[in-house]
Amino acid sequence: MRKKQPYAGEPKYASIFHALQQQRAGLIQGAEAVVEQRPGLATFPDMNDQATAEADQNFALRIKDRERKLIKKIDEALDRLTTRTYGICEGCGEEIPLKRLKARPVTTFCIECKTQQEQEEHSRG
Ligand SMILES: [Zn+2]
Repeated sequence: MRKKQPYAGEPKYASIFHALQQQRAGLIQGAEAVVEQRPGLATFPDMNDQATAEADQNFALRIKDRERKLIKKIDEALDRLTTRTYGICEGCGEEIPLKRLKARPVTTFCIECKTQQEQEEHSRG
């Protein structure tokens, strides 16, 4: 297990940094547990079991995919925190309010830009 990095970024984001590290560790632990719970994937006594095993495997892969994406987002947020580029909106370049960052630490948009983005996505169908 990797040692916890000391936080050298903006002090006001220190609690977010630690919360993200904790969340990341929890996700990795959870992903490993999903795999461990399905050790018999390689052996199928009959067709029904094989179908069940494949469904189980798909389920595990889907969870892993979702978690992998979230872990990647957390990694990116941690990178931004350590390089002091965290909390800047990608849309307008303004600082994202601390309250929003605490609620959604991996966000890269302020509420205004995010809302606008969602409306555009919605109108595109
Ligand atoms: Zn913005």
